[in-house]
Amino acid sequence: MKYKSLVLAAFLCIASLISAQPKYIFYFIGDGMGIVPIIAATELNRTVYNGEKPLTMTQFPVSGFCTTYSANSTITDSAAAGTALSTGYKTVNGMLGVTPDSTAVYSMANVLKDNGYGVGVVTTVFADDATPGAFYAHVPSRAQVYDIDCQFIDGKVDFLAGANLKGMTDKEGNPTDIAKKYEANNIKVVYSLDELAKVDKKAVNKVVLLEPNPFNNSNVGFTIDSIPNMLTLPQMTQACLDHLMVTSPDKFFMMIEGGNIDHALHGNDAGTAIKEIYKFDEAVKIAYQFLQQHPDETLIVITADHDTGGMVIGRDGKYYADFNAIERQTLSKDQLSLDCRAMLLSRTRTTWEDMQTYLCTKLGFWSDVKLNDKQTERLHNLFDKTFSNANEINDDKTLYSSFMGFAVEVFRVLDEVSRIAWTTGGHSGNAVPVFAVGKGSEIFSTLNNNTEIPEKILKVAGYNLH
Ligand SMILES: [Zn+2]
Repeated sequence: MKYKSLVLAAFLCIASLISAQPKYIFYFIGDGMGIVPIIAATELNRTVYNGEKPLTMTQFPVSGFCTTYSANSTITDSAAAGTALSTGYKTVNGMLGVTPDSTAVYSMANVLKDNGYGVGVVTTVFADDATPGAFYAHVPSRAQVYDIDCQFIDGKVDFLAGANLKGMTDKEGNPTDIAKKYEANNIKVVYSLDELAKVDKKAVNKVVLLEPNPFNNSNVGFTIDSIPNMLTLPQMTQACLDHLMVTSPDKFFMMIEGGNIDHALHGNDAGTAIKEIYKFDEAVKIAYQFLQQHPDETLIVITADHDTGGMVIGRDGKYYADFNAIERQTLSKDQLSLDCRAMLLSRTRTTWEDMQTYLCTKLGFWSDVKLNDKQTERLHNLFDKTFSNANEINDDKTLYSSFMGFAVEVFRVLDEVSRIAWTTGGHSGNAVPVFAVGKGSEIFSTLNNNTEIPEKILKVAGYNLH
């Protein structure tokens, strides 16, 4: 009898080990976060911070790569990449949650929700943008933001956070009926953490947390600009975790997107992108602390949907790079451009000396960051042209921003000093990194196709994606 019960106990123990699946899954997507900006962040830590600010994600025990090509191109956009990372299907650039023939395909969030998991989706960009949308919507074009917002109502996401919803207003800026539709469906929309704290989590159908004043009309605001009271990715991640711990404490899935990493990289703004990666890593830390409290029940997987900017460390035949110049940067290229436009339109004339003082304060130019005579002359000449003749603004438009020509030249000089180069203002076809830790994480340590990432996460959790 004693022997029998021992055998039974051993069997139960082994069975529980075999069947133990992660109850808590954190899926981080750094939009545009290729390996080079991550290595730039680690080099900033090594050479400037003396190793005192290591990234958490790069210390995870499992790492691998992920290919990013879409159904129609080596270079994907965020809609096709988001579809691959959420549904396991490749599609054509611009299409979201559908195959190339417009057939709706369902995200891993659906499978998990149908198996009792709570679902949260968090981003620093619009909450109906491509990557978050890929977890709940199915539209032939990512531009159909109103349709994406409507599909959220019956979608499987319980908690959504980001920089407002594009579909809340029409092309003329007038409110659509989305707010009313959400209210009618007991979906509570809040615009601050204070408001969120007052929500009875169990009484509402879903919660949407939004930043009411998106920076430059595209994201919650860049970390480097220190915008007062803006929602941050760690705050939204914590809010989502707190919500799910009340509504689905037994098991949940969260997708957390660092969307403004992509926006900074589209602008070829290295310092801003690196600071965003550090902020993204703070959100990773929240998940990692949770894992330490639930070590046998948690899986964290981090990847990117694609590389943006084709960033390179090293240029001009020189064997050094200067991360001090990147650390000294205290504002984004977007903010610099906004400031310069304001100076141009101001009734008070801005002199070259004023501009030098400004660039010295914000970027350390001519003090901590040395410029050669040619670089100074280039800036001075363009300043004279721009500020004496307001017609010569030479705007440089990227996907999310429109930079004033003078601001672009300032950042060209900054890149020359720090020895950073870029191959594109769009995306590249470079592979992206994968970092993982926790229950079942070993299977990510390979060159993954992006469609395999959701399949593997579900496999570890004991489910099939298709
Ligand atoms: Zn992008």
